[in-house]
Amino acid sequence: MEISESDRIQKRINGKRNSTDIATKLLVFVDNNFPEDKKFIKRLHRQINCNNKLIELKNGRIISMFCDCKTCHICNNLRLVKFLKKYLDQVKREPVKYNMVLTIKNPGTEDLKKMIDKMFAFFRNSGLKKDNTFKKLKKEVKVIRSFETTFNKQMKTYNIHFHFLIAGKNRNDVKLLGKIIIKHWRKYFRKDADSKAQYLRQQKKSELENFKYLLKLKEVNDGTIHMLYHLLKAIHGRKLFSTMNIKPLKSDELRDEYVKVDYRKLKKGDIVSCYYYSVEIRSYYNSNTKELLENNKLVKNAKRIKIEKRNQRIVSDYLRQESKKLSTRKK
Ligand SMILES: [Zn+2]
Repeated sequence: MEISESDRIQKRINGKRNSTDIATKLLVFVDNNFPEDKKFIKRLHRQINCNNKLIELKNGRIISMFCDCKTCHICNNLRLVKFLKKYLDQVKREPVKYNMVLTIKNPGTEDLKKMIDKMFAFFRNSGLKKDNTFKKLKKEVKVIRSFETTFNKQMKTYNIHFHFLIAGKNRNDVKLLGKIIIKHWRKYFRKDADSKAQYLRQQKKSELENFKYLLKLKEVNDGTIHMLYHLLKAIHGRKLFSTMNIKPLKSDELRDEYVKVDYRKLKKGDIVSCYYYSVEIRSYYNSNTKELLENNKLVKNAKRIKIEKRNQRIVSDYLRQESKKLSTRKK
C-alpha cells in the first residue's frame, strides 16, 4: 500500500490534535487535583499552543514557538529527527547490532520517582563504571540508551525500563558489553531486577523501532491520565536519550535555511506543510509590514507578538531540502 502525501499530512494533523487532547485532559486533571502546580499548568498551555503561530523575523527567518513538552507530538517528532541525524545514522552503519532491555520491578506512584532516580544513578554509582572490561569495550562499541515507560492500568504500576541499541564491528564485543551491563544491573538492584525480565537479543527489526520518546501517546486515556501526571513529575528535567562512544554529527542538514512563503495568500485553516511537520495557520505576523493575520483577518500596524525566547525555534532549520517541497494546501 502506498501512503500518499495527503495521508501523511493527515496523520500529522491527527497527531497534533491528539497531543492537544492529551494536554487538555491533563490540564483538567491537574486543575482539579493539583491546582497549586502552576508551573505544570503553564507548560500544558504551551503544549496546547505549540507551533500554532509562524512569525517571520526581519532577517527573513521564519520562527515558531515550540513547547518542549514530553507529551507533545510535534516536539517529539523534532526530537526524533535530531536524534536520527545525530546518532542513529552512525549506528546503522555498524555490522553487528544488539537490542537490550533493562527493567526493575514495576513501582507504584509512591516510589516511582525514587526508583527512576535509582535507575539513572545506576550508571554513576554501580560497579559498572569500575569494571575494566567495560572500560575497554566502551571505547569500541557504540550504545544508544532510551528511558521508556508503559502503564499497568489494572495494578496502577509503571513498567519503567531502558532500551539499548548496542552496535559494533565485533559480535563478541557487542554481546559481552550487554552481558556486563546486565550483570551489574542485577547486582545493583538485586531482588528488584528479575533475571528473566532483562534481555539481550540480536537486532532484527529496524533500529528505530527500538525507540520511542518516554511513552506511546496512544496509551494515554482517561484511565491513565493520573499516571501520566505522576510520570511527568518524576521524570522532569531528565534527559531521556543518552549515547556512548558516538560523536554527534555536525549535520549541515540541520542548518538554517531561508524559506519564503507568501503568507498574505494564506487563510486561516490552510495547512503549510513540509516533510517533518505541518502547521495549521491560525495567525501570522510580518515584522516588516507589521501586518498580523489573525482569525482570517489582516490587522495593520499590529503590535509584535510577544514570544518567550527560550521556546523560539527556527522552523527553517528543520526544513532542509524539503523546503523545496514546501507547499500550501487547503484543508
Ligand atoms: Zn510542542
